[in-house]
Amino acid sequence: MSSYDVIVIGSGAGGGTLVRHLAPSGKRILLLERGDWLPREPQNWLARDVFVDNRYVSADTWYDDKGTAFQPQVHYCVGGATKLYGAALYRLRKEDFGELRHHDGISPAWPIEYDELEPYYTRAEELYHVHGARGEDPTEPPASAPYPFPAVSHEPRIQQLSDDLAAAGHQPFHAPCGVMLDEANMPYSACVRCSTCDGFPCLVHAKSDAEVLGVRPALEHPNVTLLTNAQAVRLETNDAGTAVTGVVVARGGTHETYTADLVVVSCGAANSAKLLLASANDAHPHGLANGSDQVGRNYMFHNCVAVLALSKEPNPTVFQKTLGLNDFYFGTDDVDYPLGNIQMVGKSSAEMYRGEKPIQTRLAPEWTLEKVATHAVDFWLSTEDLPLPENRVTLRDDGNIALAYRATNDVPKKRLLHELKVLLKDLGMQHDHLLPRHAYLKNDIPVAGCAHQAGTCRFGTDPAQSVLNTDCRAHEVDNLYVVDTSFFPSIGAVNPALTAMANSIRVGDHLLERIGAPQARPEHAHVG
Ligand SMILES: Cc1cc2nc3c(=O)[nH]c(=O)nc-3n(C[C@H](O)[C@H](O)[C@H](O)COP(=O)(O)OP(=O)(O)OC[C@H]3O[C@@H](n4cnc5c(N)ncnc54)[C@H](O)[C@@H]3O)c2cc1C
Ligand code: SF4
Repeated sequence: MSSYDVIVIGSGAGGGTLVRHLAPSGKRILLLERGDWLPREPQNWLARDVFVDNRYVSADTWYDDKGTAFQPQVHYCVGGATKLYGAALYRLRKEDFGELRHHDGISPAWPIEYDELEPYYTRAEELYHVHGARGEDPTEPPASAPYPFPAVSHEPRIQQLSDDLAAAGHQPFHAPCGVMLDEANMPYSACVRCSTCDGFPCLVHAKSDAEVLGVRPALEHPNVTLLTNAQAVRLETNDAGTAVTGVVVARGGTHETYTADLVVVSCGAANSAKLLLASANDAHPHGLANGSDQVGRNYMFHNCVAVLALSKEPNPTVFQKTLGLNDFYFGTDDVDYPLGNIQMVGKSSAEMYRGEKPIQTRLAPEWTLEKVATHAVDFWLSTEDLPLPENRVTLRDDGNIALAYRATNDVPKKRLLHELKVLLKDLGMQHDHLLPRHAYLKNDIPVAGCAHQAGTCRFGTDPAQSVLNTDCRAHEVDNLYVVDTSFFPSIGAVNPALTAMANSIRVGDHLLERIGAPQARPEHAHVG
């Protein structure tokens, strides 16, 4: 049995960022990751391997509420889901921290205000090399610093799209991107600006993911230890149930127990709930820290749709994810409820369309898949999903995850799609074609597309209604914290990772104070 000051379980956006923040303290830190290092190999950038054969999707089996098995879109590796993410690093809107009335109900307020998280957003943007331009997006929340890096430039077809949107009276903006790109000095730029970014691992380690900018720099500190292929399976507590006394880890075919003064869970929203539920004991009969019966509930994952429009002119864009549009975020002149965010996704290719029936059947035979790919302009529309107590993770008798989920806000989701459709004629696109992309979302079975999962251990001030307090410490267990997207009480309609990263730094400051370590000074980001 080994003892540490802090054990962090899970090395993704939450855990990887936290370990990076704690590392300079000199305290003994153990990072447990159930997956391995994601291999660096040519397949990292091959669409067929990544999108069609799901090479990096973990072979896990979850079950829906009818007991049907499915393979969730989860990634068990150092860096977690950020290894595959699109690195669109948005702040939530200031209004997302308050109560917002939606079509299907209320999006609840957070127990902290935007202003409390703002300095940590700024630090997270520095750590994760976010490129952007303040002042273009009318919904953008106030920021205490400019983006640390200039906006990624639009390629000509996307610049045209931006100009056309502006001419139609809209306010497109340069999307915030986490890539280590230096357009002013490309021979020295780590990022080569390729077409295989969003949904792919970065072969040259130039994406701002939690492995490259969280875990690797943390491991340069001798006080930090990483164990890969180490799955936390249970947390043990003292008899009173007030403190975690051991982390039981399945590794190399046996079980080992590690101890620490503080234990931080960051396994991703579904798996963090699973770990707490699997840690039920006499003091916590319904799952660790679950006296409120809130662990696993309020699961959210954004009501998203990926669509492909067909440009009248070819679209030779390589790196497409440079534009966003939030003009419908809070509604329209005619709609008094929020609709959501529109952004670009990675440029699609013919290879990715294999097996996508809508594309193959609705456009054939005039449109070959190659012709579709040449003209495709790919959009991602994201509508806020509301927290419902019945949308929840539970544990089956066999120990696997059961996920009960029904989407919320379908009306605003459809309305947002309608708004985009109406715009097409002004944007040089075929006005009659806006095709859904199933493979991108991996959502043939909707619950499987859990890339943006959040909300299973929400934080709050009322222990009867929340799992964590405002420091993300379990109300019922003094040395237990959760820092992945589980803590979100609502998810907004922009991508969640930057918020998890910023919050990890915020919680990290609290932990440093608690373990009597000096506050970490911001280090210069390290490119591994
Ligand atoms: C294809 C794709 C594209 C995306 N694009 C974007 C985007 O552009 N912008 C954005 O903001 N977000 C994006 N996301 C979502 C973003 O990646 C997640 O919101 C974010 O990574 C969540 O962070 P997390 O710490 O909660 O979980 P993760 O990053 O998933 O980390 C959880 C970690 O815990 C490990 N783990 C799980 N269980 C255990 C256990 N029992 N013991 C030990 N380790 C365990 C996992 O292996 C994993 O490494 C995308 C996701 C995907 C899949
Ligand atoms: S665009 Fe840049 S960061 Fe993204 S995969 Fe390509 S090289 Fe890596």
